[in-house]
Amino acid sequence: MSVRHSGIGMTSQRTRMRMIERLRKQGIVDEVVLSVMGSIPRHIFIEEALASRAYDDISLPINFGQTISSPWIVARMSELLRADSHLDKVLEVGTGCGYQTAVLARLVREVFSLERIGPLLTRTRMRLQELQVRNVYLKHADGLHGLAEAGPFDGIIMTAVTTHIPSSLLEQLIVGGRMVFPKGSQKQHLCVIERNSQGYIETILEEVNFVPILSGVVRR
Ligand code: SAH
Repeated sequence: MSVRHSGIGMTSQRTRMRMIERLRKQGIVDEVVLSVMGSIPRHIFIEEALASRAYDDISLPINFGQTISSPWIVARMSELLRADSHLDKVLEVGTGCGYQTAVLARLVREVFSLERIGPLLTRTRMRLQELQVRNVYLKHADGLHGLAEAGPFDGIIMTAVTTHIPSSLLEQLIVGGRMVFPKGSQKQHLCVIERNSQGYIETILEEVNFVPILSGVVRR
């Protein structure tokens, strides 16, 4: 695997910089997020046949009917989650290929990430090890239950769409924490839920397009 990475690596720095420029033009303002995305090789998260399109602003298939989110989605969700504040502990639901996870790992002290499809997670685990990402704890689990034993979290990010977030998951946010996720069914929008001392405040943002959240786990 390392051989093919170094091959593409020759040109990928320049390609990544073009991606960052495009994200800025598309309205991403958090320079910390942009700098992290400028340093992570997105092409290694994608099957070789599609790797040449890794830096285009599109989502791509990653097996098991799932997709890697587009660069704009990753950047936008990361900046909404960060909101220019320090994040200590974050929970991610829907690890997928692990690209968003790797971005988070550079923005946050500790990332906990849950994925329901076992074989997808096995592959992602290898990839993150190869990139020497060490502050991420991956678990094969139904993420809708969250990970109460590791919480509470400063932030929760969910990368699959749902109409409703269970209150047991929202309760794993600290007061002052926020959750970012796609909300809806046919029509979907990015949604931020902030927890304050009185309760939860929801804000609906851009229209998006995600695969649905599913319950239960897939073992093979
Ligand atoms: N951020 C990922 C997105 C992958 S697509 C990436 O860019 O690669 C959404 C992911 O959420 C899929 O991998 C899917 O298997 C996972 N998922 C869906 N429902 C889930 C659930 N209940 N618990 C954990 N993961 C879930």
